[in-house]
Amino acid sequence: MDHATADVLYGFGMAKVCVFCGGTPLTKEHVLPRWLKVALDPRVQRHRYIRLSVDAVRHHDAPPLNEQVKVVCSDCNSGWMNQLEENVRYFLPDLIRGNLCTLDAEAQRALAAWSLKTMLMFQHTHPADARGVIPAGDFTSFHETCEPTRSMLGRLGFMNYPPDDAVPLVDTQCQGYSADGVRRTAWITTLKIGCMVVQIIRAPDVAAGKRLAPFDFLPSLRPIWPTNELIEWPLPAAIPYEMMPALAHPDDLDLTIVPA
Ligand SMILES: [Zn+2]
Repeated sequence: MDHATADVLYGFGMAKVCVFCGGTPLTKEHVLPRWLKVALDPRVQRHRYIRLSVDAVRHHDAPPLNEQVKVVCSDCNSGWMNQLEENVRYFLPDLIRGNLCTLDAEAQRALAAWSLKTMLMFQHTHPADARGVIPAGDFTSFHETCEPTRSMLGRLGFMNYPPDDAVPLVDTQCQGYSADGVRRTAWITTLKIGCMVVQIIRAPDVAAGKRLAPFDFLPSLRPIWPTNELIEWPLPAAIPYEMMPALAHPDDLDLTIVPA
């Protein structure tokens, strides 16, 4: 089957107004941009997409670059969302293919923002009744700053490029957590494309005067939000794909809150 031909538009419980700003008219948005085609080995096609929540596990398989959602307005789509694409375009193919490159703080901020946007769009490829891991308020707050918030952490991991379809080329996962046992107040998204694994972790709101302690440096994982350190890519160690479940949906968030 030629995955490069037909687009798949997800219309499950389609939003009437933009999920970011409430505006109209709504436009179609590719969840992963077409320009990423240059970074993907055409021999590896498998796209596994699993979404988890506290009470349900749902997943679907789909070709990587054909998924579209119709949940954002034309102003958002052609404005700040397009700018987030432009901000990562010069280095994202190298991250995905595991080519040598250096990410400075600006590139890491851009990567964290692009990854969050992409995962917010992926959430809308699911039926409305299966959504809810990422609450509506996190979409509107993202629209205000076009960046992750201070209640979020981001990190970048390295996996070897899949040699064949034994390992998915694209794998996205989202796990919700409830701090009080009822409301979902926290989540982890994991976006793997080729060699690149980006995680955005949303903690319960961090009080004023406090902040989240960044993740430790590891041979296969580096903080990207917040960050000041250069990242030399590829990282010196690869995370085995078998570690994906432990990485993407750990039993608890294991976050540390420190004075700001
Ligand atoms: Zn909008």
